[in-house]
Amino acid sequence: MDFKILRKQMVKNQLLKRGIKDDRVLSVFLDIPRHEFVAPELGRSSYEDRPLPIGSGQTISQPYMVALMSELLQVKKHMKVLELGTGSGYQSAILGALAKEVYSVERLSVLADSAAKTLDSLGIKNVHIKIADGSIGLEEFQPYDAIMVAAGVPKVPQALLDQLCDGGRLVIPVGSRFSQVLICLQKQEGKIVERRSCGCVFVPLLGKQGWSVDNE
Ligand code: SAH
Repeated sequence: MDFKILRKQMVKNQLLKRGIKDDRVLSVFLDIPRHEFVAPELGRSSYEDRPLPIGSGQTISQPYMVALMSELLQVKKHMKVLELGTGSGYQSAILGALAKEVYSVERLSVLADSAAKTLDSLGIKNVHIKIADGSIGLEEFQPYDAIMVAAGVPKVPQALLDQLCDGGRLVIPVGSRFSQVLICLQKQEGKIVERRSCGCVFVPLLGKQGWSVDNE
């Protein structure tokens, strides 16, 4: 099966058609082998216009959503990025190709380990995965030029705003446990400027500044 052709079709039919314009984002979507981040039997489906299960009740996000979030974040090659919710590691690989360093936090060790293996097998060395509660950010390497949250929150965690550089952007789905609005925030001289993007559905970010783990 020619995955390269499937990637080209994905970029043309799902991303370009829906208005993704950033050339760097489009180009990394042509390069990163999305099928490597799902179970072998789902390889072909991984280029379809939908999320897919990755085990532990979690999902790899729909390609368009990953592209939209990457575009909104305006990641540049010199940037240090924080990602919350590594999942399969696909979004981390995309960010790795766009930025200098990516720190990605995942609370489930089974997913973190599998994502680390996949990234390693692809020779991706600038993505660093941590097993922790990302709802409080990742104090160790802050401040970040950009923060992407791949799970829904009831309210933007203060820790993330604190760990963002001045001028930095944060993309995060905010809403109920079952549906959210994708929000893009920018810190400008200490003030937060907020822009709403679109409706979306993400699994919940569980933790101290996210949803309660008890109702998981
Ligand atoms: N972008 C990922 C999909 C993320 S799914 C991909 O490309 O595959 C959301 C992930 O967030 C899940 O793996 C879930 O376990 C993780 N998650 C939920 N709460 C978290 C928390 N507090 N800290 C870190 N990861 C969390």
